[in-house]
Amino acid sequence: MPGLEDLYREIILDHYRSPRNKGELESPPATRTEGFNPLCGDEIVVYLELDDSSEPPTVEDIKIGGQGCSISQSSASMMSAAVKGKTLAEVKDLTKAFKGMMSIHEQSLPGEGAGKEEEGDSGLGDLEAEIPEDVKLGDLEALRGVVKFPVRIKCATLSWNTLAQGIEDATS
Ligand code: ZN
Repeated sequence: MPGLEDLYREIILDHYRSPRNKGELESPPATRTEGFNPLCGDEIVVYLELDDSSEPPTVEDIKIGGQGCSISQSSASMMSAAVKGKTLAEVKDLTKAFKGMMSIHEQSLPGEGAGKEEEGDSGLGDLEAEIPEDVKLGDLEALRGVVKFPVRIKCATLSWNTLAQGIEDATS
């Protein structure tokens, strides 16, 4: 029976080889947001189209561009599949859950922040407790093993930070 790590590796490779929602959206109306991880050279472009006729707004469509290592690209693919069709409130919960999973070790990185500060996180020690319980990470769980390689955490969180910026661009 293959171990959990083998299963995780397979999920990551599957998303890397067959990225979901790869491509571009016409911008405007979509917003186009670029993210860059200089530690590894990863680039992510998030094309985001929100449906703001509903309240809260939903992610009508998302496309991913860019290039980089298998962790950054598979994380972007998983993210795009996870947030498409979701409300911005659900996206925020997913982001929190994913970054909570990643941040457990991120705090030990010298000179690295834990990401968005304006979400009102009081302290890094509370991050684990703040993960919303009812959020299902699905395939994203496969990236759990990345925390063992702190230098790769930025690869995994790049697409989420770019998405957060994109949502800000789209809603401001
Ligand atoms: Zn990378």
